[in-house]
Formats: sequence, structure tokens, C-alpha cells
Amino acid sequence: MGRLLRNLRYYLTKTTYKVMGLNIDRYRKIVDKYWSMNEVSRNEILNQELIAKANHDNSTNIILRLEDIRSAPVMGKEIFSKRDLSSRGSLRKGFSRHTSGTTGKPTFITLSSNELERMLAVREYCFNHHGISLGHREARIWGRGNADIKGKLKNFLLNRKLFTPEGENSHQVVKRLIAWCPDYVYGYSSLVIEASKALSELKLSPKGIKCVICTAENITPFQKAMVSEAFNCPVIEEYGSTEFDVIAFDCRMGHRHLVNPWLVVEESDDGCLVTDISRASQGLVRYKLGDIIKLQSENCGTFGSKSVITGIEGRSANQFVFSKNGERFHSVEFAYIFDRYLRERNEYFNFQVIQEKAGKVLITTDPSPKLGTEDLCSYLKKALYDKVNLDIDAEYIFDLDENIVAKKKSYFIQRLAQKND
Ligand SMILES: [Zn+2]
Repeated sequence: MGRLLRNLRYYLTKTTYKVMGLNIDRYRKIVDKYWSMNEVSRNEILNQELIAKANHDNSTNIILRLEDIRSAPVMGKEIFSKRDLSSRGSLRKGFSRHTSGTTGKPTFITLSSNELERMLAVREYCFNHHGISLGHREARIWGRGNADIKGKLKNFLLNRKLFTPEGENSHQVVKRLIAWCPDYVYGYSSLVIEASKALSELKLSPKGIKCVICTAENITPFQKAMVSEAFNCPVIEEYGSTEFDVIAFDCRMGHRHLVNPWLVVEESDDGCLVTDISRASQGLVRYKLGDIIKLQSENCGTFGSKSVITGIEGRSANQFVFSKNGERFHSVEFAYIFDRYLRERNEYFNFQVIQEKAGKVLITTDPSPKLGTEDLCSYLKKALYDKVNLDIDAEYIFDLDENIVAKKKSYFIQRLAQKND
């Protein structure tokens, strides 16, 4: 009976994609084909795609060959987000994703169905390499996100369940997670580590989980081994962003390969630059992600590109916020709250949250909020109380320490433990 139900849920999710008009299989085959080609042939095909796209878009100032990319100007998040702010009202036609990611620079992404199909196909390609598939039962170790009906329905249809293990409640949360029998686990590295600690404390060793995928934050080899032991399965690291979804993914050997054949990823003085040569709805050329990466060629032909990412800076883990009584929650809750604030107030600013004292956070934004700093602080306090049930004081600061911000490319800076940072 259990197996039948699991299969039904799996097919329900596959059907959901079809109902949304998404044909993932079509692009899934193309991803396979492109990665099975040698680089010269693949670039030839991609150049043909670029020319076809330019003819179709009928626009000037467009990249016509892959070689042209490196001479194009670097595109910052600010320019991109501000430019597209005005068109946010007209997004109804396509699919939209919005996030504050890890950088505190809100980003609004629109996608046509073709573009979303491509992204999902790349994800499916990565998943298949590790014996899982979109639609398999996913335990998502995440921030609280949207607990409204829409969010719940989406999670149900996509066959996933949200778990937020933090401090005291983590034992209960991991027990529920194990009882739900997921096929795989997907989550924020620091919350996955939190769950792993709870599993070891409870001396639980789950069976049947195929893999744990860590995303959004760096994880050390030691932590990776700990998670692998706790969940009793391989641990895979993903590097991605809201704008591009999966950019790089671990192969079974543990190299983080570039996996999207339509993305050109550069290691530059401006950090990681990404160009999506297939994207028509929004131009993304040499788009600055805000992370510093190291690329290297690896002679491993089983998966994706031969280019692998060997180092990422700018996505530090253990991003917890502490209350006066020592309770904690993951700083991603700020990203959700700011995101909602910006949408509700229909404005745009970059933000940064700094914690120097337990029970209190310092907020700064650029530019200042239109409705005043008091509006923002009280909104934040209330939203935090509603979400995590903790009283956290928020104070707005105008004189921002530029050095800290430039050094740490993250929206949250934890200075409780590292006073010398
Ligand atoms: Zn490899």
C-alpha cells in the first residue's frame, strides 16, 4: 500500500508539470546530447542557437557568438533588478521567481515556459546521475517560507515537505522527517548540519534515503562526512542561484561540474559571471552573481562539463540568529521577510542585517526605505515574532561600515562569535 501511494504521488507530480504546460523530457534529451558531444561540436551548435535567437528576437546589441561574451560589459544585480522593477506588473504571462538569495540584493526573475523547462531539465539531469528524479519524495530542510494555502498546495503537488530544524525543536523535526520516509533530502547546508546533529544525538540511522543535496551555503569536507554518516547516504553539493537555478552539481566522484550547457560561467576579477545564451525574456550576459569562484578542468567524463568549481567564497554557513535566551533561527527568514516587505511596499533596496548582541539585530538598507526606517523595523519585528515566535529587537543604522559589507557578500553578518571579524 505504501509503495502504491508513493508511486501515485510521483505520477501526480509528473502530471502537475504537464498540466503547467512543461515538457521537461524534451530538454532533458538535449542536455544529454550536448554533454555527450566534444567541446568544439557543442560550441558550434550553441553558436547556431545564438544566431537563430538573434534572428528571432530581431534585436540589436545581442551576442552572436560565444567568443563575443568576454568583451561584453559586466552586469551587476542592481542594474538588472532596477531595470526590471518597472515590468514586474506584467509578469503574469510567464513564470516568476523572486528572492533575496544570499546577497541581500532582491532579484526578480521572469521565465517563459521554455526557459523553465530547460532549468528543470538540467536539474533532472543532475538528479538522474544520483538515482533520483524530479517528483520523488523530497524532504526539504529549509526556512519556513510560505505557510499559506498556496505554498502548501505547491509543496503537495511537487511531492515535498518542509522541515526546519533549529536548536531545541530539531529532535522533533528530524523524527518527523524520518517518519515521512523521503527518497532524498534537499536543503540549506547549515540546517542540514543541524538535522545531522539531531540524528546523531538521537542515535537514529535512517534507511532508504538515496542522497542529501546541500545548497546555498558552503559546507566543509568534515561537515559533509558528518552529514553522510548521519543520513546514511552520499552528500552532494549544489551551486545555483534563483536567476539560473542549478549552475554546478557534484558528480559521484565529488567534482562540482558545470551542468547547464546554455550557461557560460567565467571566473573573473568581478567574481563569478554567468551568461545564459538561451534566455530571451530577460538578457543575462556576464551577470555578476556576487560569489568568488575558482574553475578548473577535470578529466572526468561522466557528467556535465569538464569544467569544475573547486572553490566558492561568499556563501558561509552557520548563519544563525540568536535570541536573548539562546534560541536560534536561520537568517534566511530575513530574506523571506524583506522579500515580502519589498513586494508589499512595491519598492526596491539592498539590505544587510548584522547581529552584534543576542536578541537584537542592526538593519541597514541602500537606499533608505521610502516609508521610513521605523516602518521597516516594526514590520520586521512583527514578522519575526509571527514566524519564529521570538522577540528580536531591530534597529536601523545609517552609517554603514562599508568595509564589512564589501568583504562579506552576504545579507547577514553574524558578529556574536567572531568579534574580530
Ligand atoms: Zn566528475
